[in-house]
Amino acid sequence: MKCLMCKTVGVFERGLCASCAKKEIFNKVRNFKKDFFGSVPSPFIGHYNYPNINVGILSLQDIRKDASSFDAPSEWATLNKGVYDILDYRSALVNARKKSNVYKIEDITRLVGIATKPVEMEIDLKKKPRFGLNFNSEASPYGPNVEVKKAKITENVKIARAVEKVNDDIDLKSNNALSYLYKKGFDENFLSKLLSVGSVGIGKDRRLVPTRWSITAVDDSMSKQMINELKDFNEINYDLYFGGYLGNYYLVCFFPGEWSFELFESYVEKKVNQWSKSNLRYATDYENVFGRKEYAKETAGGYYAARLPVSEKLKSLKRKGSVLVFRFITEEYTVPLGVWVVRESIRKALKNKPLNFGNKELMLKYAKIFVKKKFGVEIDEMIRKSILLKELKTQKRLLAFV
Ligand SMILES: [Zn+2]
Repeated sequence: MKCLMCKTVGVFERGLCASCAKKEIFNKVRNFKKDFFGSVPSPFIGHYNYPNINVGILSLQDIRKDASSFDAPSEWATLNKGVYDILDYRSALVNARKKSNVYKIEDITRLVGIATKPVEMEIDLKKKPRFGLNFNSEASPYGPNVEVKKAKITENVKIARAVEKVNDDIDLKSNNALSYLYKKGFDENFLSKLLSVGSVGIGKDRRLVPTRWSITAVDDSMSKQMINELKDFNEINYDLYFGGYLGNYYLVCFFPGEWSFELFESYVEKKVNQWSKSNLRYATDYENVFGRKEYAKETAGGYYAARLPVSEKLKSLKRKGSVLVFRFITEEYTVPLGVWVVRESIRKALKNKPLNFGNKELMLKYAKIFVKKKFGVEIDEMIRKSILLKELKTQKRLLAFV
C-alpha cells in the first residue's frame, strides 16, 4: 500500500504515511469560538513558575455525549485508537486557563477534576483560540492555551460516592485515599485528576498539583503499594511477554527471585537515546527490593508508568519476581502522546501468552535473537550492563550457601 497523498511506501495510518498524516493534523483548521457552551472532561494544572502556575480546564466547544472519550487513555487502548485519532481528540480541547497559585483551590477546577463525567459549562475566553497543539512529556497533548474571562458550570455535577467520601475526609492521607479508590476500580487517569485538583490528602496539605507530577505520583504510589503486597507470594517462573501499542513495543522478562525492576528504553532507528546521561543507545533505570531513593533520572515518568502494569501483573498472578523490561520505540510512534502509552502498551503485552523457559540463559538467548530479528537491534550491551541480571547471580549464589 502506498500513501494516498505522496505515494511513498512506509508506515500507514488512515492510508497516509507518517509525515503526511502529521501534516494533515497540523494543517487542520478548527473554527474555535471565543464564547461557548461546552463539555469539559479534564483540568490541566501547569508546572511552569511553580507555585505560581496556570490553572486551566480542557474544554470542548460544544456539549457532547461522547466528551469523556476525549480524555480516556484506557478506552483508547481498548479500542486500538491510532496516533492521529488521539490527536484529533486532543487538538479539540482548548485549555481555558488563568494565572493562579497552587494554594488557591477553586470550585470550578475542583469539580471538573472529581466529576463522574465531563462537566457542562459556559465559557468566555479573552480571545478566539487559534489551532495549536501543546505537547508534554507525561501528560497527553491538548489544543491551544487561552486566557479565560468567565467560566460557569451550567448543570448539577455528579460525583461518585466513594470520591465524595475521600474529598470530604481531611484526615485521610493522600496515598491511602488514592489506593482506596484504585481498588474500587477508578483508573489512574481519574486518580491523577483528583490529585491534581487538591481533592485528596490531609486538609492542611491540600494544594493543586501540576498535571505531569500528578500522573507520575499516582503511578509511583499505586505500584509501590502493590510491590509491598508481593513479598509473601511464591516466585514466578522464567516467563517472557511481548507486545505493544502505537509503535511502542515491550519485551518483559520475569525471573524468579525477590522484587527488582529494570527498564531499558531505546529507539529502533536512533543510535543514541537523547535521555541517556552517557550518550548510549538506551536510557535505563533500576531498583531492587529496597526501592528507589530518588527519581528515575533517565527514563523519568516512563519508569513509573512501566512499573505499574508490571506490579499489577505480578499481583494478579500472586507471584513475586525480578522484572527486566526492554522498550523499543519505532517510527510508527510519530509524536509523543504521554506516559499513558507506556502503561497501556505494557498492559497489552502482558495480556498476550507468555513464553516459558527453563532458565535465565535460555530466556536471554531467545530475547537476543528475537529482538535482532524483529527490530535489527542488538541487546547484548544492555544485557551486559544490566544491574538486575548481575544481582540475580549474587542472589542465587547467596541462596546456594543457605
Ligand atoms: Zn505521504
